[in-house]
Amino acid sequence: MTIITKPNTNSEQIAIIQARVADFGLQTTVVRRSQNTVLCLIGDAKRLPDGVFSDLDFVEAVKFVSKPYKLVSREFQQEDTVVKVKGVPIGGKAIQIIAGPCSVETPEQMQASAEAVVAAGALFLRGGAFKPRTSPYTFQGHGEKGLEYLIEAASEYDLPVVTELMDVRDIDKFLKYGVDVIQIGTRNMQNFQLLKEVGRLDVPVILKRGMSATIKEWIMSAEYIAACGNTNIILAERGIRTFESAYRNVLDVSAIPFLKRETHLPVIVDPSHAGGQSWIVPALSHAAIAAGADGLLIESHPNPAQAWSDGEQALTPQELKTLMDELRIVARARGRDLGQSNVVQANAHRLKDLTKQQYAA
Ligand code: PEP
Ligand code: MN
Repeated sequence: MTIITKPNTNSEQIAIIQARVADFGLQTTVVRRSQNTVLCLIGDAKRLPDGVFSDLDFVEAVKFVSKPYKLVSREFQQEDTVVKVKGVPIGGKAIQIIAGPCSVETPEQMQASAEAVVAAGALFLRGGAFKPRTSPYTFQGHGEKGLEYLIEAASEYDLPVVTELMDVRDIDKFLKYGVDVIQIGTRNMQNFQLLKEVGRLDVPVILKRGMSATIKEWIMSAEYIAACGNTNIILAERGIRTFESAYRNVLDVSAIPFLKRETHLPVIVDPSHAGGQSWIVPALSHAAIAAGADGLLIESHPNPAQAWSDGEQALTPQELKTLMDELRIVARARGRDLGQSNVVQANAHRLKDLTKQQYAA
């Protein structure tokens, strides 16, 4: 059960609701949102008599949500959530492409990556500064320096940035550099402490699916973030582990329509970590958009052969541009289009002449 208050309900009024619930041996989790406060009941709602809050005029509604995930479920909220990042919507009609390298390597590599993103017409730059690597003997990311290179390259074109947070102790750095979207990677999908902390921030979060997580576990992780007050959550399917070993992971296309039905959150797809090889990325991207994804998170690199991580799955700048052109057609078949931004387009003239020639249509 969820108890939704009217806007501007104060803490004394919240305490009245909590006390009333406590009379029946129950507790609540209090979720303060910009528009109102929601109290999610902990315990058996059947213990509460009908109309138990009817005399409280600051209670807007009482909703029974049968699903274990409350705030992020479609049952709780019918309208799609649209997450606005620097004015660019994720979710809704437009499809957003986020592209950039696996790891932030050098200022020059990031500059070239940002140029490739703008030249292709994508609106977000990705790049990992803190890298979760399988081996401790491979490049772990530049850490704070990486955030600096990423932000510097992106600011040239006003591109919003997406980068992975692995440790609660780094949150201050992410805030200091003004990271636009925090990515929680597959390996941390159930790092509940991390989820709770990003839930307290006013920064949108991309929550990747754990590589062996069920959809229910994944949505429950999104609920952790929402239950701490941050409902600007984007779910990212990035492939799961199965018996199949021919490619890096198996892209669960079924997850896309399933999540869109089950939750009101935007759903994006990472075809790069699913496929693991660059040649397969376009096919998986087409499939994702055809299945209703709200965006893609794609790895691209100015020189994939020289990449410090995941080079085999990175698209070249030209491949990224070609893919974007194909995606426009697939998007149209779904009655959608790729996102456009006047800000980024206005910055395209800053592309170096060389880059302009290279990507000339
Ligand atoms: C990444 O996006 O760079 C990454 C490490 O992804 P994942 O968490 O899906 O493996
Ligand atoms: Mn990667």
